[in-house]
Amino acid sequence: MRVYLDNNATTKIDPLVKVKMQPFFEELYGNPNSLHKYGMDVRPALNTALGEMYDALGVPDTDDILITSCATESNNTVLKGVFFKYILQNPEKNHIVTTSVEHPAILETLLFLNDYGVDVTYVDVDEDGAINAEDIKNAVTDKTILITMMWANNETGMIFPVEEVSAFAKEKNILFHTDAVQAIGKIKVDLSAIDVDYLTFSAHKFHGPKGIGGLYVKKGKQLPNLLHGGEQMGGKRAGTLNVAYIVGMGLAMKQAANHVEVMNTYVRTLRDRLEDALKEIPDTIVVGPRDKRTPNTILISLRGIEGESMLWDLNKSGIAASTGSACASESLEANPVMSAIGEDPELAHTAMRLSLSRFTTAEEIDYVIDVFKAAVLRLRSISSTYAYTNEVG
Ligand code: PLP
Repeated sequence: MRVYLDNNATTKIDPLVKVKMQPFFEELYGNPNSLHKYGMDVRPALNTALGEMYDALGVPDTDDILITSCATESNNTVLKGVFFKYILQNPEKNHIVTTSVEHPAILETLLFLNDYGVDVTYVDVDEDGAINAEDIKNAVTDKTILITMMWANNETGMIFPVEEVSAFAKEKNILFHTDAVQAIGKIKVDLSAIDVDYLTFSAHKFHGPKGIGGLYVKKGKQLPNLLHGGEQMGGKRAGTLNVAYIVGMGLAMKQAANHVEVMNTYVRTLRDRLEDALKEIPDTIVVGPRDKRTPNTILISLRGIEGESMLWDLNKSGIAASTGSACASESLEANPVMSAIGEDPELAHTAMRLSLSRFTTAEEIDYVIDVFKAAVLRLRSISSTYAYTNEVG
């Protein structure tokens, strides 16, 4: 049996999305910026897809959705855009507040901007992996131009206080951006109820194609163009539009919004069943209270077992999980979120992330439980650290 439990890294494409995209690789291959019929024929599909994205986010089409190549590009666009448009013009306001557990697309871009005079405050998570809204508020100074905080964490699934922080930002006249990559398709993301200036998303995290993402930009909060060389997207991002992928992202986002309840019931039940079974194994820790997490995610630490060893053991039985963000997985480093949570340095090396999707089945979960328990027994029997800590403790 093969079981894919790495849906926070990427997801399989929804079969309906694949079918919808197909004609745009075949007969409908025109460039939407061309004036002839080939070009004209594809434009309605682009408008439909954008309409699906506006609806899914609960925003009017007088706001903007910038199509990008991925969430990494969207995050870079916001941070560098704010730098060019605001900080360069007024270096007095050069301070950005963020969290220490953002995706590298935020953290590394901020490091880059630091070299150009941008000051950054990183707010830490607590032992549950939670961000306290008060800590964000206390980090703000009269120099703060932007708060950027993810909606849900990719490792733990912990949901961050976006509503409270965005309302605070509004009150203080500070720009607010949220990286909602791990929230869309898992929990309700409704911008008619929560007022944000910028929001990042990525199709491959909600059963759309890879290599396409978006940045929601509220009306009046436009940022400078970072890609010059064409009039596409109203001159806001040059480059020929990837029509097939935009069409796929539109439907995938509509499907994601329509399946939030399925995530909250069906997927949550499967996740909880898996989590309950794994917590029966002695010396395991799951990070964060369940009701504060996205319904598909478990970050578990198994004392005495290196996350990497467990990963390879599961892999041999056809189960895909992860020890951390796929963007950092080649470096075999300790799990960064576990490190931020702090408490015990061993946790950072024994963490594993299991992330389900609406395509995960009950049979798969039962299989994972059996394989997981057997693997833990085997690996602990050969783990000298585990034997030692058990003897002394
Ligand atoms: N932001 C978060 C929270 C993520 O989890 C990821 C991917 O893991 C990204 C950004 C980057 O997404 P993309 O692969 O679309 O660049």
